[in-house]
Amino acid sequence: MAEQRKWKWADDPNLNKVELTKLEKDGLDVIETIINTYSKQGYDSIEASDFDRFKWAGVYQQRPKDGHFMMRVRIPGGILTSDQARVLAGIARDYGRDLVDVTTRQAVQFHWLTVESLADIFERLGSVGLSSFEACGDCPRTIVGNPLAGIDPHEVMDTRPIVKELEQFFLLNRDFSNLPRKYKMSISANVYNAAHAQINDLAFTPAKKTIGGEEVIGFHVWVGGGLSAKPYLAQQLDVFVRPEEVVKVAAGVTTLFRDHGYRYKRTHARLKFLVADWGVERFKEELLKLTGELETRGEDLLKGWNAGYFYGIHEQRQKGFYYAGLSVPIGRMNADELLELARLADEYGDGTIGTCNTQNVLIRNIPAEKVEAFRAEPIVVSRFKLEPNTFVGYAVSCTGIEYCNLAIVETKERMRALAEYLDATVPLDTPLRIHMVGCPNSCGQRQIADIGLQGALVKTPEGMVDAFDVHVGGTLEDARFNQKLKVRITADRLGPFLAQLITVYKKERLEGEPYWRY
Ligand code: SF4
Repeated sequence: MAEQRKWKWADDPNLNKVELTKLEKDGLDVIETIINTYSKQGYDSIEASDFDRFKWAGVYQQRPKDGHFMMRVRIPGGILTSDQARVLAGIARDYGRDLVDVTTRQAVQFHWLTVESLADIFERLGSVGLSSFEACGDCPRTIVGNPLAGIDPHEVMDTRPIVKELEQFFLLNRDFSNLPRKYKMSISANVYNAAHAQINDLAFTPAKKTIGGEEVIGFHVWVGGGLSAKPYLAQQLDVFVRPEEVVKVAAGVTTLFRDHGYRYKRTHARLKFLVADWGVERFKEELLKLTGELETRGEDLLKGWNAGYFYGIHEQRQKGFYYAGLSVPIGRMNADELLELARLADEYGDGTIGTCNTQNVLIRNIPAEKVEAFRAEPIVVSRFKLEPNTFVGYAVSCTGIEYCNLAIVETKERMRALAEYLDATVPLDTPLRIHMVGCPNSCGQRQIADIGLQGALVKTPEGMVDAFDVHVGGTLEDARFNQKLKVRITADRLGPFLAQLITVYKKERLEGEPYWRY
């Protein structure tokens, strides 16, 4: 175990319990303990205080707490190789009961792992340059990016090298492994906000500025976004950041969070609360003390929001090449299907697969002459469709009560059934995004959905039953969160209720009017 650092907040008598656990032993130290001890001696050998620290290894106990774990694997920027996909499929098949979930932060999740399997899984991941470390915990999580980076006709710069630099800088960096709470970063140069900037703690979006007579492409910086029970939209700082300054600025913002973020209540610890209290002017002043001078804001290059969807076959920046956006219903697949994606990436593309924050995938770099054969691939025709039905195609769901200890209700399979019902009942010709979450933590990002469904319980004569609060009108286009309707609908009535709601929209919408604007 590494020598524990003496953090400046260490003697504060008001620290919450998790803070005390982190001071006693850094979260990252648990990785060594898992490899050397727990994976050899089994579940019963795990010390109670280490269960919390397992998150730094990217591992949580799944529900019910009977010795099984879930693991999240970082996919930096949402781009993985076919070799990496094969290793992921192997882990799912050998240890994870054949289940692979794509998350809303472009990561991959496994379930049903035992502690005995973890050392081998870490090794397998490491052998192809993947890691689950710090995919959970109070540390810099998976860096979200543009899954089309490098091939995107709508990006002003290839952000892959910067994602790599950020990943190398933050991953396992003990200067930042004890933050007050989870910490989410995104970077994208896509002008349609592919990485959902406003819901991240720290985000970089494309911008330009004339400096010394020369036009420089760089980034604007957003801080303090986040969802959960008290959602905040990130705010822009008055700075322009050159590509080579991104890591320095990210380190500065993260240092401010580490040193000034709140460590008393877990529900009041995210960066968003510090930003809200300080305001962006003070936040910028404090940041400049760490980074030195930065340029002031330039011209924003964001033009709108693509909501993270890329369905169909589209031309790339490279003439004669195409990418294919495929639907993965509710983000769930099995090992064979992931292997099929790896094969498609190798046979048709350049061997890379994109994971989207909408829980879908992309195959990149398909030459024109292979497009028709790609379209005819059985898995593309019948399972991961290029043009899915509206509701199945635009449904997002968190993990829910099947595996999540914080969940109030079941979500994933329920969302799948609901989407299928709506496609059969109220077919719609325009996208309508429905996100379902099993509790206020909002891993399924319900606040930015056209219709956001949040699980709850209601008392009925038959006892407590699953129900949902319904929220409408979320978007990151003129960014705003959805608003709660004054209804709580029991799960058995959810389909008919939404069908009615959508029927009204279909009748009354103006030409081309999206649901959030309606
Ligand atoms: Fe679990 Fe709640 Fe997150 Fe869903 S939103 S995965 S129920 S913590």
